[in-house]
Amino acid sequence: AGKRSLNPAELKAGILKGDRASLSRALTLCESKLAQHRELAEELLQGLMPHTGNSIRIGITGVPGVGKSTFIEAFGKELIEAEHRLAVLAIDPSSGRSKGSILGDKTRMHELSQDTRAFIRPSPSGGSLGGVARRTRESILLCEAAGYDVILVETVGVGQSETAVKNMVDFFMLLMLAGAGDELQGIKRGIMEMADLLLINKADDPKDPRVKLAMGEYKRALHLFPPNPNEWIPKVQACSALQKSGIAEAWEVILSFENQQKNKGYFEAERQRQSLAWFEESIGELVLEQVRSGSNYQAAFQEIQSLVKEGKLEAGVAAHRLVEKLFA
Ligand code: GDP
Repeated sequence: AGKRSLNPAELKAGILKGDRASLSRALTLCESKLAQHRELAEELLQGLMPHTGNSIRIGITGVPGVGKSTFIEAFGKELIEAEHRLAVLAIDPSSGRSKGSILGDKTRMHELSQDTRAFIRPSPSGGSLGGVARRTRESILLCEAAGYDVILVETVGVGQSETAVKNMVDFFMLLMLAGAGDELQGIKRGIMEMADLLLINKADDPKDPRVKLAMGEYKRALHLFPPNPNEWIPKVQACSALQKSGIAEAWEVILSFENQQKNKGYFEAERQRQSLAWFEESIGELVLEQVRSGSNYQAAFQEIQSLVKEGKLEAGVAAHRLVEKLFA
């Protein structure tokens, strides 16, 4: 017992009361790689399950400098004023290794981070993308149980983490700039294709012809993608995070998405699909872990690996032989 308790029952009670210290401690517990912590974390998550799910989960991406943190600050303040509670999480597999990682420095989202109605959590550091993604997914559940009804998951728009985020959110938005080709912005087609809302930021001047031009171009680009099975037609809008214009309109799009998806039954179906996908992915990871920690694994691995090294065994054949040996 006591203030720094890791007792699942106490953490659960604290989280359900909306106690931020309990939430922080629970998040840290879920990020731990220690086996005894993992056990406690799983007990906690399982106990909180009935209290999760009551939020809109939003992914946000865009290249560094596009204005993500400025947008989140403005967006967050509007939500808070409308009586929402906002949690901001991040996925950045590079954090810990490199500086300049997202949400790393405390100066970002300064005002929002001072507000008790918002909760900002940096990316769990280190490990594989799969590990970081799992911990972020668990963070979503913990934040929901603590009463946050809007969850933002931020990622940088340059790599693999977008797909991981897309698979844990209800709505995915991409921040872009006008007057710079998408190649210039380093945004891959695949990321554009995932967007439910493409938001052109830094549209400070509503009469700027470049903004209109860019909106038209992006709309045409989105039009070329195959239609979404959920019948949602991706939107293209503009905003200025700095001047706080177009922010409410972006929120309106999210609300109409939520409405439409719930009415058509796609909202729950997509969450179910995501849970099942994570279930299968987790099985893969755990089975692999279990096999690798087996007593006969290392010796068998070393032996067959040396045959691959010497070029005596083709890699795929070697893997097959190893697996057969382990499960013989
Ligand atoms: P992030 O790396 O995507 O999080 O981008 P930041 O939010 O840190 O913004 C990068 C720079 O762009 C900062 O200097 C911001 O002040 C500026 N910025 C962000 N949004 C706007 C905007 O709407 N208009 C203008 N003019 N500048 C902006």
